[in-house]
Amino acid sequence: MGGTFDPIHHGHLVAASEAAANLGLDEVVFVPTGRPGFKQHANVTPAEHRYLMTVIATASNPRFTVSRVDVDRPGLTYTVDTLRDLHAQRPEADLFFITGADAIQQILTWKDSDRLWDMAHFVAVTRPGHRLTVDGLPQGGVTTLEVPALAISSTDCRRRAGAGLPVWYLVPDGVVQYIAKHGLYRGLHDE
Ligand code: ATP
Ligand code: MG
Repeated sequence: MGGTFDPIHHGHLVAASEAAANLGLDEVVFVPTGRPGFKQHANVTPAEHRYLMTVIATASNPRFTVSRVDVDRPGLTYTVDTLRDLHAQRPEADLFFITGADAIQQILTWKDSDRLWDMAHFVAVTRPGHRLTVDGLPQGGVTTLEVPALAISSTDCRRRAGAGLPVWYLVPDGVVQYIAKHGLYRGLHDE
């Protein structure tokens, strides 16, 4: 499951857990982006903070792991590179790429999108506020999955933290504390 995870929240965790249960996955690898190509405009938190929050949020689940492939690769992050690196590390694994309804819509605009279909199965999960359609995507290329609706976004969590409003119960407790400890999103007016 790729994402900016700025910060990781319970919507991400429920989506990952549901995909794992429904598709019988052995492991969910969370892959925080390095520099996301499509978010160059925004004020993205340094990758090391986003990576550590993802580690904190997933630590208690034995099936959840976090990969540094995108954080450690110089330059912009492209999913084609993510999948190539994950395949190199786990040559035996059957890869599934989990995305939300909003992200799957962007897939055709991703770098080398025609090659992605051979590199992984794509799983699109429902997300409040976004219609889940796979129009224009290869037939059979994308599995759609309805997951319990959690109307949580990282954008809203950043706004709340920036405005001094609570993010308790939207993100895991350890992430609330990490945000406070490092003063993340303080005085944020980016969106
Ligand atoms: P931002 O508001 O900064 O874009 P976000 O909440 O969309 O953050 P991302 O890191 O962009 O989080 O998302 C990573 C992946 O998780 C994407 O595929 C996205 O569609 C999916 N996702 C995010 N939030 C949810 C949610 N509440 N339910 C289901 N999927 C989600
Ligand atoms: Mg997003």
